[in-house]
Amino acid sequence: MNRLSKEFSKIISDDMQRHRLQFKLVFIALALISFVMTIMNVITDKGLLTIATLAFSVLCFVNYLLTLRNSKKLFDVVGILFVIELTALFVFFIISGNPEGFSAIWICILPSCGMLLFGRKMTSILSGFLLLLLLFFFQTEPGQSMLMYDYTESFRMRFPILFASAFFLAFILETIYVHTYRELVNTRSKLEVMYAHDYLTGALNRHGLSEIYEQTKPGREQSVMMFDLDHFKRINDTYGHGTGDIVLKTVAQKIQEMTSPPLCRWGGEEFVVWFPEESISDSFAESIRLAVKELPIIDEKGNEVHITISIGIARGTDRDDMHDLINIADEHLYKAKASGRDCVVS
Ligand code: GH3
Ligand code: MG
Ligand code: MG
Repeated sequence: MNRLSKEFSKIISDDMQRHRLQFKLVFIALALISFVMTIMNVITDKGLLTIATLAFSVLCFVNYLLTLRNSKKLFDVVGILFVIELTALFVFFIISGNPEGFSAIWICILPSCGMLLFGRKMTSILSGFLLLLLLFFFQTEPGQSMLMYDYTESFRMRFPILFASAFFLAFILETIYVHTYRELVNTRSKLEVMYAHDYLTGALNRHGLSEIYEQTKPGREQSVMMFDLDHFKRINDTYGHGTGDIVLKTVAQKIQEMTSPPLCRWGGEEFVVWFPEESISDSFAESIRLAVKELPIIDEKGNEVHITISIGIARGTDRDDMHDLINIADEHLYKAKASGRDCVVS
């Protein structure tokens, strides 16, 4: 059960995978149910019915085996095969059923299986078709019917209503499920963005960077660039926090344009870029410093604001840990601040 819930959470945003899992579960469930019915039919000596349930159980198991393959085409074929197998079993149950045996009543589980496999639209069509078949077989007069045994008058009247009720219930449950699922996927994708990103600048936050770090194998050379806005407090004090925010956003955007790895807001007005496969040059860092220095930033009140940045760089090999490089870059950044700001130290 734990494995199953893990598998569900892994595939929550992958429709195809989720659909495949539903197919597998329905086929396994139906194969088992039919197998149990087969044993009961053997015990109660039901002859033809035993063969039918055994055949259906085997077919469901074969369908299950086919869904193990990762082929979209095969998957569609299995769906069509299953509808044919199901209709055949349905007709057999109706024709061979008698008022004492209640094989026909099993038909009521089909709408819920259909919802899991084919969704609401297709299952509504299939269930409508099955209901028409049911009415067709039931409408003939006793004595001249195509049925092996006559159902009682009461059964003929009530069973289609039972089947229709099972369908409506499955439809309602599927509708609730579909809406809840969509909501879950939407909320999850929003949370994923929030979890890994900074709201103001759109850059990664520390979580986001550490996730990328866990998923990325560093190359033979790697490097870290850390930068901090110079005298940023003065901008807040002079123009207000709104202007400070615009400066942060504009600088972050400019640097992201110039670097291919994602930018991370390390905290406050301090940012980090981790280059997992590149040892960046001082001249590249210089070009970033100059680009920011020359950046025209206009705030909402029309003030033109200028800002400079100090940059610390650390370089390493594939054996180095990104966090160690960040610490070194931080020391270099501190030196850049100490030597007058608006410069690069590596
Ligand atoms: P230094 O050159 O030494 O880095 O000086 P500084 O003024 O840039 O550094 P300091 O640490 O003294 O001040 C940083 C300021 O950044 C203080 C804080 O209010 C401001 N700040 C941090 N985050 C934000 C933010 O999201 N928006 C705005 N507007 N200001 C922020
Ligand atoms: Mg600063
Ligand atoms: Mg700072």
